[in-house]
Amino acid sequence: MSTLDHLFEKIADGSIPSYKVYEDEHICAFLDINPLAHGHTLVIPRQKWTRLDELPDDVSAALGRALPRLARAVMRASGAHAYNILCNNGASAGQVVPHVHFHIIPKHDDGTGLPHHWPARPLDQTSAPALRAAIQTALR
Ligand code: 5GP
Repeated sequence: MSTLDHLFEKIADGSIPSYKVYEDEHICAFLDINPLAHGHTLVIPRQKWTRLDELPDDVSAALGRALPRLARAVMRASGAHAYNILCNNGASAGQVVPHVHFHIIPKHDDGTGLPHHWPARPLDQTSAPALRAAIQTALR
């Protein structure tokens, strides 16, 4: 077992110190220990689920309710006018701590924030209908 496995549960219950900015029954938010930018904040469910797609609806709802409010507060406190919300799911997607978390990353005028690299390509119109159908089927 890695020391990262229960890190965020311990931060949530206070047994590992952090700069908490918000907590309620389901979630808590605290300053990232290695911020990409001034104000970089993490928002987590108190209970551990590894990935976003595992969350039950009540916890998802609590996260969804708190995120915009926390984003407003982080913007106001940090003085930033733009920000990114990031949620890495899976090691190959950049997730290091295996406990679902949203990053609120302010973008400052000095350029600090989430680096922007977006190597997009046009949607493949040939395969798009089948892809849409597959996702719709998976949603049922
Ligand atoms: P991930 O790469 O998993 O999406 O992001 C994990 C984040 O957790 C990183 O931004 C990292 O700086 C932060 N982090 C890791 N360990 C700690 C810790 O002990 N305390 C706090 N506050 N943040 C941490």
